[in-house]
Amino acid sequence: MNGAVFLDKDGTLVVDVPYNVDPARIQLYPDAGLALKGLQQAGYRLVVISNQAGVARGYFEETALDAVWQTLGDQLLPYGVTFDGFYYCPHHPEGQVTGYAIDCDCRKPRPGLIQRAARALHIDLSQSWMVGDILNDVEAGNRAGCQTILVDRGNETEWVTGPWRTPTVTVTSLQEAADYILGQGAGTSDGY
Ligand SMILES: [Mg+2]
Ligand SMILES: [Zn+2]
Repeated sequence: MNGAVFLDKDGTLVVDVPYNVDPARIQLYPDAGLALKGLQQAGYRLVVISNQAGVARGYFEETALDAVWQTLGDQLLPYGVTFDGFYYCPHHPEGQVTGYAIDCDCRKPRPGLIQRAARALHIDLSQSWMVGDILNDVEAGNRAGCQTILVDRGNETEWVTGPWRTPTVTVTSLQEAADYILGQGAGTSDGY
C-alpha cells in the first residue's frame, strides 16, 4: 500500500477562520486526532492540500504559513500523528501581489498540488483519497485520480455539480471519513 489521504485544511481539519494565520486561532475539529491516527496506522500517508490565496491577496506573507503548519502538527502530536507534507497554493488570479496573482495549475479545483505531492512522496494516486469540505476539493481529488470524500459541514453553498465534482461518498465528520476509507465503504454511506 502506497496511498495517501490528502486533507483540505480550512473547514476540514480545522474550523474555518478565513485567511487566518494566527496560531492562537487554529482549532482542530475534535475528532481529527483519532481519525487521522487510524488512517496513519493503516499505512496511509497524511498530506495537507490547502489553497492559501491570502498570500496573493496581500493579507499575509508566505512565511507566515510556517507557524500554521507547525501548530497543526503540534496539535496532533498527542495522538502520535505526524503529517507527511504540507502543500499549499499561494496564488489567486485576482490577487494584488506581483508573482502570486496568476492563473496557476495548483489552486484547487485544479489537481496540481496533489500531483506535486504524489511525485515528491512517491504516492500512488489510485490508492489515495482526497478529503475536503467543498466540491472544489472533490474536483481536485477526482482530477488527480484519487477517490474523494466530501465532509459536508454546510460549507459548500454553491453546489455547482459536474462530472468531476461527484464525491465517492459524502459524510459529516472526519471520523466517518476515516471509517469509510478503512472499511472501503461498508455500511457508512447510508442516506447518501
Ligand atoms: Mg475547506
Ligand atoms: Zn497555485
